[in-house]
Amino acid sequence: MNQSPSGDGANESLQPLEIPGAIARIKSKIVVLSGKGGVGKSTVAANLAAGLALEGLRTGLLDVDVHGPSIPRIMGLAGVKPEMAGDAILPVEWNWNLKVVSMGFFLANPDEAVIWRGPVKGGVIKQFLTQVAWGDLDCLVVDCPPGTGDEPLSVLQMLGEDATALVVTSPQDVAIDDVRRSIGFCRELGNPVLGIVENLSGFHCPQCGTVHDIFKSGGGERLAESAGVPFLGRIPIDGEVGRAADQGEAYLAVKGTSPAASAFKRVVAAAVRHAAGRGREASGDA
Ligand SMILES: [Zn+2]
Repeated sequence: MNQSPSGDGANESLQPLEIPGAIARIKSKIVVLSGKGGVGKSTVAANLAAGLALEGLRTGLLDVDVHGPSIPRIMGLAGVKPEMAGDAILPVEWNWNLKVVSMGFFLANPDEAVIWRGPVKGGVIKQFLTQVAWGDLDCLVVDCPPGTGDEPLSVLQMLGEDATALVVTSPQDVAIDDVRRSIGFCRELGNPVLGIVENLSGFHCPQCGTVHDIFKSGGGERLAESAGVPFLGRIPIDGEVGRAADQGEAYLAVKGTSPAASAFKRVVAAAVRHAAGRGREASGDA
């Protein structure tokens, strides 16, 4: 980035620095939202991106959570600094098919709490969407901060109405109410909803191999039904998923055959179908 994000940031004259058509070269865009924090949204975003890459799609993962970027840790990229080519940010290659950019790459101390005014956050997000040399992508996955605040608003406005939302929730009722708000937010902006996924839904027990319901579950499915959006499944709590994330090996979750891996694959499949649809529209033979 050509200006320190923690500087005063009042003079965002970003226009001349944009990579022409950067967003136009991205076939499909999936914005990962959640009503509130603590539902494992970043883990879902990371596994979705890794899964898409493993399916052979050219994938980008953009983490715009300026307050608590967790993608570098989950993807095993903590401490990595992206290179610049002129004014363009070169995304970090996680593998041959997956390029990653996170706010965390640009923080001097990843643990610091960053407090930025809304316009500054908007400027940083704009830089991420227009100054990153993503190249040609089949799918860009954007991990947003929780809620319906400035950052998700900026992301959806800048990506436009063809960006679709993946809404992550947990089974509790209080989370479900927040998700209702997230769906209303997308509708207001004119963005479609790819679906709702219920994360942390039951516990995959290593002892007996089955999934135990530890909270009430099914709220995500009922909400999807009443809101008329697809329900993409329940992802159980699985120690292996957490361990993989701690070791920066998000892909383990989609490679395996556990209930969590199967659930992740279902979300990946929905995203693959969406990207395929976008590709047809782009080439005009829909
Ligand atoms: Zn058990």
